[in-house]
Amino acid sequence: MSRGPRSAKRSPTPTSATFPPHDFSQQQAPAPAPPPPKPLYLCSPFVEAALVKGNFKTIVMLPKYVDIMEWVAANIFDFYTNLNEFYGVISECCTAQSCPTMAVGPTLNYTWINPDRKQVHLPAPTYVDYVMTWTQNLFDDEAVFPTKSGHDFPVNFPSIVKHMYKQLLRVFAHIYHAHYHQILHLRSEPHFNSLFAHFLAFGREYELLDMKELKGSTSSPVGVGALWEKWRELGTVEA
Ligand SMILES: [Zn+2]
Repeated sequence: MSRGPRSAKRSPTPTSATFPPHDFSQQQAPAPAPPPPKPLYLCSPFVEAALVKGNFKTIVMLPKYVDIMEWVAANIFDFYTNLNEFYGVISECCTAQSCPTMAVGPTLNYTWINPDRKQVHLPAPTYVDYVMTWTQNLFDDEAVFPTKSGHDFPVNFPSIVKHMYKQLLRVFAHIYHAHYHQILHLRSEPHFNSLFAHFLAFGREYELLDMKELKGSTSSPVGVGALWEKWRELGTVEA
């Protein structure tokens, strides 16, 4: 029987050959990170793309003889239905892998508050599913959105609608931030921009839209806050 060759003896401590000397005096300060590229939705011609030209103020005004609650209810239902269709089209690109958080800006990810009041990060498709299911359930609730004659809207209807607006805004913001290239690929940017501009104009007119929610903070801006500013300059929406 023969034994295998003995392994070469190794030095127990590393030598300078394994750790080449490093001259730290020659190390350069890291170059400042370049500013993030401007999102496509803020770039021409996409930022101006719309189905209708002009200001959205005229189509959000309360028609004569229409109850304001009915008007708000009908419009928010339309916004939800249209947004749901857009999200349905791009949903195969919005997965737990592509969108592990509900991102709406380079440094802003929304958390969901779970039943024991804890804030949790959810993948965007789960977050959006929760928003859409919660919204649909409210529409189906006769106590919130009465459809039968003699049934009134609840006294807290304005606060419920504001809450719905806030969550639907986050879905718009996520699509703009993470999936605008897919909207462009479908050549749907005129339609999607018009839907969002209408949503913003309506929200401002009936005080359903919280500007803090739309813009975020200086350190964590919402991407579409800059779109709002741009559309104000273009006269698409009013201040
Ligand atoms: Zn996504």
